[in-house]
Amino acid sequence: MSTMKFCRECNNILYPKEDKEQRILLYACRNCDHQEVADNNCVYRNEIHHSVGERTQVLQDVAADPTLPRTKSVRCTNCGHGEAVFFQATARGEEGMTLFFVCCNPSCGYRWRD
Ligand SMILES: [Zn+2]
Ligand SMILES: [Zn+2]
Repeated sequence: MSTMKFCRECNNILYPKEDKEQRILLYACRNCDHQEVADNNCVYRNEIHHSVGERTQVLQDVAADPTLPRTKSVRCTNCGHGEAVFFQATARGEEGMTLFFVCCNPSCGYRWRD
């Protein structure tokens, strides 16, 4: 990998590390305290991808969101409940919008896609 960096103090591999407060990507040495600000965005794109994954877990709360449209024309494939919240979102690793449904049964919350 051409993007691999080495510590200028001790010559060990530098690992990418996100500085959440400053919202920048650092390269940090695990052998000494040396770290430096990353100057390319390749690794940072991975970090963003990661946070998108975390956001999809929040989607499980959307069934309780009163601002989202509801439909009774679908049936939950998990519990058989006849009402679901629906919204469009971009699925991970895909292009374009996909229609998602979330079961309105509070004890289910099953999510599926069109
Ligand atoms: Zn070092
Ligand atoms: Zn359900």
